[in-house]
Amino acid sequence: MKIGFEGILPAGVLVTIDGQRYHSSGPVPHIKRDGGQIDLNGWTTDCAECGKKFDLATAPSAVFSPTRRCPSHRKPGQRIGEKVEAR
Ligand SMILES: [Zn+2]
Repeated sequence: MKIGFEGILPAGVLVTIDGQRYHSSGPVPHIKRDGGQIDLNGWTTDCAECGKKFDLATAPSAVFSPTRRCPSHRKPGQRIGEKVEAR
């Protein structure tokens, strides 16, 4: 099943994908690389690995394919373009 959101959702929407529940938390302002600002959809879900609650944000798009794991269980290299720099 593929679903998508072309726009920004209000807080309080529940979406279940493959048994994982995502609660929308409203728009999240995001600064793009070129300096422009867009709104992302904010979500709260439980990590598929450890069950810990974490927040994520997805761009409004035709296909909703959010991450299922919290930052500490995300596999390195899985999400290309989201480079984390050590400081
Ligand atoms: Zn986890």
